[in-house]
Amino acid sequence: MNAQASTPAAATPFIGKLLINGTWQDAADGATLERRSPAHDEVVAVYAKAGVADAVKAVKAARKAFDHGPWPTMKGTERARILRAVAEGILARKHELARLETLENGKPLAQSMAEIEGAADLWHYAATLARNLHGDSYNTLGEATLGVVLRDPIGVVSIITPWNFPFLIVSQKLPFALAAGCTCVVKPAEVTSGTTVMLGEILVAAGIPAGVVNIIVGQGSVIGDVLVTDADVDMLSFTGSTAVGKQAVAKSAQTLKKVSMELGGKNPQVVFADCDFDAAVDAAVFGIYFNAGQCCNSGSRILVQASIAERFAAAVIERSKAVRVGDPLIDGTQVGAITTDKQLATILSHINGARRAGATVALGGAQLPGPGMYVEPTVVTGVTPDMAIAREEVFGPVLSVLTFEDLDEAVELANSTLYGLSAAVWSQDFSTCLQAARRIRAGTVWVNTFLEGHAELPFGGYRESGIGRELGRFATEDYTETKTLHMHLGPRTDWYVAK
Ligand code: NAD
Repeated sequence: MNAQASTPAAATPFIGKLLINGTWQDAADGATLERRSPAHDEVVAVYAKAGVADAVKAVKAARKAFDHGPWPTMKGTERARILRAVAEGILARKHELARLETLENGKPLAQSMAEIEGAADLWHYAATLARNLHGDSYNTLGEATLGVVLRDPIGVVSIITPWNFPFLIVSQKLPFALAAGCTCVVKPAEVTSGTTVMLGEILVAAGIPAGVVNIIVGQGSVIGDVLVTDADVDMLSFTGSTAVGKQAVAKSAQTLKKVSMELGGKNPQVVFADCDFDAAVDAAVFGIYFNAGQCCNSGSRILVQASIAERFAAAVIERSKAVRVGDPLIDGTQVGAITTDKQLATILSHINGARRAGATVALGGAQLPGPGMYVEPTVVTGVTPDMAIAREEVFGPVLSVLTFEDLDEAVELANSTLYGLSAAVWSQDFSTCLQAARRIRAGTVWVNTFLEGHAELPFGGYRESGIGRELGRFATEDYTETKTLHMHLGPRTDWYVAK
């Protein structure tokens, strides 16, 4: 493959503290955490590393800010003004944000920039929802009754995010929770905390009141656990792996928190013989190598109709060879580094497992020479539905190719994993597209396109891919309780004890 020579990150490390109750603080025990760039193996950030005491303090600050206001009762226009100021603050610092995202995550700089700009759009969109959040009323319950349904902010929300799209994912949650009037404690993944901490600086500059957003950096099993279990937290909004998500749901049940879970995926792109061949090949390549395959929506399974399967796989392999892998700071790089050494080991072990199970590694399959952690674009053919590579999330640049004969089999294969996050259907026959799209059990089905997203369109998964939806016009409602006002008008006429 064409791994390029690594350039030094040449950056002064980013220094991040904890944002608790409106002030930047060191950890109570003075602990710190270093992040090394996965592409350059240099220290790029040093954080105050929160412990349990800091996490509890952050939750208490959010509780106080919720219970004593002013944020939950502030006018929607005022909350919207601050959210818009944050969006503008993000755009004003987009170069800094994108660079830090790339240094910590290993993704190409242009991709980080698109992520930051996309996130700013989410803050703008949430600002519109802050002014539109409303309940309902019933004037049909009889002369003496008026029913009013209120949307009340749910309270303190714990926000826990993963390392693959740190800035986008916090922006899929935080502005919507804030628009609803909630207060929050945010815990980014420990390896990519930088842009979330910078977001804290932007929030403070935009005038967010003290305690409304608290940001703590540290280990999931330690401080994440506090955010999941503390009785002062009303809701958990979590994005991460299905395994950790399940544990978090179980633990949060002790205090019956509302949960919103965005978890893993094993997403099929279903390619029918009558598709626009070139477009589908390109989408297959993009769908698996985008973000080095470290993407919940990664199109990690190609299900292709048997009559074109050989030609399709050959075309995907050919085009994969042209994908530029290497230093994410170099212009034109399409696939950057694998973000953590643990993930690198997981990817390589999945590839070896597929070999052992009898599949063919038709392209790639190996780690590229360092410095930095890179994996060759990899295509695995001869995959059958029972193999782990067809069912489990690899989270790397590794594509599995399976075949089907007809629509029924395609749908059965598409639905054959425990996940249900997203899928794509490729056919020039509209009826085929719609039949498949309606029968595939996934939160998003793309038709003749892949991985596009808009703030207006809800996002989330079926089955073990999650609980709830983010984005879309109902996104703020998820962060509310519904309160019924059942009101009697005029003098009472019916008595429990007759007068
Ligand atoms: P992860 O589950 O390991 O970690 C996610 C977050 O949970 C991190 O902040 C981590 O520190 C924290 N955490 C870890 N242990 C915890 C605990 N015991 N209690 C509370 N928090 C804890 O996931 P990851 O490796 O960072 O991210 C990759 C996973 O995220 C993949 O499975 C991917 O599919 C999924 N993901 C899903 C979506 C989606 O929208 N559905 C989006 C992005 C990523």
